[in-house]
Amino acid sequence: MLNVVIFGAPGSGKGTQSELIIGKYGLRHVSTGEILRKEIEKRSELGLLADEYISKGQLVPDEVIIGMLGDILDEDRNVKGYIFDGFPRTLAQGEALDKMLREKNTSIVAVLNLSVEEDELIQRLLKRGEISGRSDDNPETIQSRLDVYHNQTEPLKTYYKRQGKLFIIKGDNIDDVFERITDTLNPIL
Ligand code: ADP
Repeated sequence: MLNVVIFGAPGSGKGTQSELIIGKYGLRHVSTGEILRKEIEKRSELGLLADEYISKGQLVPDEVIIGMLGDILDEDRNVKGYIFDGFPRTLAQGEALDKMLREKNTSIVAVLNLSVEEDELIQRLLKRGEISGRSDDNPETIQSRLDVYHNQTEPLKTYYKRQGKLFIIKGDNIDDVFERITDTLNPIL
């Protein structure tokens, strides 16, 4: 299996690039943020719980997310590979993902880290907030999401760098970013 993690701050373009990657390589998209937003819409128990964290810009607890991922990996058969978008977001999630994949005799082949300046991220998220209707695309919540990213998610970079899997991709504009991604993935996939 060809499993790729797309990694970066909120607003770095993970979702946009994931769509392009699945179009080209036929991988299955797993966006934990999207799954949680669907649960919120359905007003399921999971959705109601997740909403309390998401609307404050905090992370949903690891055990909830890891359980959710385990279910997805168990239900899918005959998948060419996954693109993990917005997951893992903590070291505990990263370790759990490695373990779950190892149990299926597979692993992560590449971690694409979209790198964008903080000012640019804020501008993008504010602009998205005008149309997305997302409860977390507002100035206060954006700042806490960026803080959470730096404190809880960024340490994963070292984790993947040690494994030799981290690729830093400049995250400026959609077409150039995708070209850099295909240049990175083609020799691997
Ligand atoms: P973005 O990266 O643009 O903030 P996402 O859709 O990936 O968008 O995530 C939105 C929110 O959903 C996060 O701020 C967090 O509250 C929650 N969330 C998504 N994925 C995870 C995860 N892997 N672990 C914990 N919380 C998550």
